Amino acid sequence: MKNIKFDTKVIHSGLETDPTTGSIITPIYQTSTYVQSRPGVNKGFEYSRTANPTRTALEKSIADIENGKYAICHSSGMGAADAIIKLLNPGDEIISNKDIYGGSYRMFERVFSKFNLNFKYVDLTKADNLNNHLTKKTKLIWVETPSNPLMNIIDIVEIKKIINKNKNIILVVDNTFATPALQNPLDMGADIVLHSVTKYLGGHSDLVMGALVLNNKRLYEELFLITKSCGAVPGPMDCFLALRGIKTLYVRMQKHCENAKKIVNFLVNNKHIEKVYWPGLKNHPNHKIAKMQMRDFGGMVSFELKKNNLKQATSLLSNLKLFKLAESLGGVESLISHPYSMTHASLSKEQKKINNITEGLIRISIGIENHEDLINDLTNGFNKLK
Ligand SMILES: *Cc1c(COP(=O)(O)O)cnc(C)c1O
Repeated sequence: MKNIKFDTKVIHSGLETDPTTGSIITPIYQTSTYVQSRPGVNKGFEYSRTANPTRTALEKSIADIENGKYAICHSSGMGAADAIIKLLNPGDEIISNKDIYGGSYRMFERVFSKFNLNFKYVDLTKADNLNNHLTKKTKLIWVETPSNPLMNIIDIVEIKKIINKNKNIILVVDNTFATPALQNPLDMGADIVLHSVTKYLGGHSDLVMGALVLNNKRLYEELFLITKSCGAVPGPMDCFLALRGIKTLYVRMQKHCENAKKIVNFLVNNKHIEKVYWPGLKNHPNHKIAKMQMRDFGGMVSFELKKNNLKQATSLLSNLKLFKLAESLGGVESLISHPYSMTHASLSKEQKKINNITEGLIRISIGIENHEDLINDLTNGFNKLK
C-alpha cells in the first residue's frame, strides 16, 4: 500500500476480504492441497509447501510494513536465516558483526562451516572496520542492529556505502529487535531484512516463525526456490496468529519504548548496576547513529551487575515475579534472561569474553505492563541482593 502511514498499514496490509464469505479476517486455510480443474489449471495454489492463502496474506502484510516488494515466511527465524546462507557457494566468505544472536552464531559455526563457508566476526560498530576484511571472496555481510545482547548499533547506510562498489555482496540486516515500527533497513540499502516473527511481530509469545523481506526480484526468486525446495514453511494457524499480532505492532512498540525509557532511567540510578546497555542513552557509543536510523530506541535493555558473578545474577533472576525468567523477547509480557547461560550458552568462554558477555550480564525484554509495577518488581528483586 502506497502513501499510507505505518499505523494504518499494520491494520490493513495483506488483508483482502474473503471472496466466498466476505469474512473481514483472512481465514485459516488449514489445507495441504488444492483441487485443480484440469492439469495445471488452478486458482493460484497447488500445494501448501509452495504457497497457502493465509501465508500469502501474511507475506503481503510483512512486505508492506517493511517497505519491501516481497516477503517469504519460514517456520522459524533460524529457518529464514538458513535460507539466506543457502544462497552461497563453497568458498564464499561471510562477514558478520561480532555480537549476534547466539543461534545465528551456532548455525554458522556448527552447521555451515563444514560446507567450506568462511565466517568472520568483525566489530562493525565502526563501519570503516569492514574495509580491512573485505576480500574477493566476500559474498555476504550479516548485520544485527541493535545487536543481541549488548544493543550495539551499526550504521546501515555507512556499511552499504562501503560495499556499494561490489555489487555481488548481499547486505542482510536482522531487524528483529527494532521491527519495522522503528527502522526500515531496506530504505537504507539492505538487500534482505530478516525477522524472527516469533518476537515483536507475533508479539504474544505464542508462535515460532521467521520472515525475509526484499525488493530484488532475482534474489526473491532464488530464496523462494530454496524455501519451497527445502520446506521450512510455517503452518496456516501460526500465519493467522502473526497477522493478528501485527495489527497492534505500532501501539505495542510505542508502549515498549515508553516503558523502556522509564525503566532505563531507574536502572542507571541503581546502586547494584555497573552499566546499562540501551541505544537511547546519551552515553551509548553509537547513540547518534541510533537517533538517525531509528524512530525510537526499542524495548530491549541489558545491564551488568556491579558484583559481576553468577551468584548475584541467579539471585536477581529468581527474586522477580512479573519479569519471567525465559528465553525469547518481544512479547507483551516482560521477560528476563541471562545471556551467559541461556541465549549465548553456545559461545565458547573466549568468545563470551571477547563479546563482553559476562556472568553478571542480564537482558530484559520490557513488556507493555504498567511501568510502575515493573519498577516495583525490579526494586524488590534488587533489595533482596546481598
Ligand atoms: C530469536 C532470534 C532469531 C531466531 O529466531 P527464531 O524464531 O527463534 O528461530 C534470530 N535473530 C534474532 C535477533 C533473534 O532474537
